[in-house]
Amino acid sequence: MTLDFIPPARPIIGDDERAAVDRVMRSGMLAQGPEVASFEQEFAEHFGLGRACVAVNSGTSGLHLGLLAAGVGPGQEVIVPSFTFAATANSVALTGATPVFADIDPVTFCLDPASVEAAITERTVAIMPVHLYGHPADMPALTSLADRHGLRVFEDAAQAHGASLHGRPVGSFGTFGMFSLYPTKNMTSGEGGMVSVENDELERLVRLYRNQGMLRQYENEVVGLNNRMTDLHAAIGRVQLTKVDGWTRQRQENAAFLTANLEGVTTPAVADGAVHVYHQYTIRVAEDRDGLAAALREEYAIGSGMFYPVPNHQLAPFRSPVDLPETESAARHCLSLPVHPSLSAADLERIVEAVNKIAAAGA
Ligand SMILES: *Cc1c(COP(=O)(O)O)cnc(C)c1O
Repeated sequence: MTLDFIPPARPIIGDDERAAVDRVMRSGMLAQGPEVASFEQEFAEHFGLGRACVAVNSGTSGLHLGLLAAGVGPGQEVIVPSFTFAATANSVALTGATPVFADIDPVTFCLDPASVEAAITERTVAIMPVHLYGHPADMPALTSLADRHGLRVFEDAAQAHGASLHGRPVGSFGTFGMFSLYPTKNMTSGEGGMVSVENDELERLVRLYRNQGMLRQYENEVVGLNNRMTDLHAAIGRVQLTKVDGWTRQRQENAAFLTANLEGVTTPAVADGAVHVYHQYTIRVAEDRDGLAAALREEYAIGSGMFYPVPNHQLAPFRSPVDLPETESAARHCLSLPVHPSLSAADLERIVEAVNKIAAAGA
């Protein structure tokens, strides 16, 4: 019997997303317009951010514009994790500032405040934690550290729609926060990003940088980009917003099942007061992580993901001789198992059985 492949992620697009796109196409107004404006308001309300949101064409653009709006530029340093997607450091480098890498906490995989403190120099202007895999970073410790050193905090919440810490949603702690709307993220607009901003002036600046430096046509105030979201994408995002809570609950239930049943590997932990939204369900494999991934795929037709096998401080554009032992260990031992809301009970049982058998056989 050949098994159906269980993919590591699967975007869910329904008839109502298709109808929403069709409605915009029929309107003849495709670019940024009323759908984007509604999406921005609905997103901020839905996640209880208590602040304005600005929609852009990708999560990476969101980080870039947030940094520009916060005045980050050449000669400055922003402390980021190395154990993340390259967009985090790329966005800092694109402003002309330097990303400086700090190590992670081995349990949550998010920035370790002690390592951040050790990386602060006279050029440091901000700390940009990533709420990796959908688990909130240690915002109380990072915020108080930032306050003591006169630094700002920016949040890369690309993977963490709906995650919270002690009841406070991610994306509401920093000067700005960014959510990605890429198809494999917890909700999507096709491509897209949402920037939550702390105050009106930042909102104005992100809107300016998004649109060639203009709020009104030909009244250019600064040098800007074209990072606008289209109404087609916003229409998809608005429908997804009505479904994301159900998907998140399903992710959390899937994660609970995996954690209750997996043996021989280290399952993900959740910090006190944290709500984890399981963008990824990431285990640690003590011995042969690559062998486990290969056996899952070849013997059990189960996809998995390595996020991230090469930490940013070892990528060509950022290569630096920093010593980040927890980051390097995580890059070698982490494996993300399918946790997405399309998994059936049989899929989950197959994943558990496969991992437990392979692990018991000495992976
Ligand atoms: C996906 C992602 C981004 C970038 O988002 P895009 O929408 O793909 O540009 C940034 N940071 C992290 C941690 C991500 O996972």
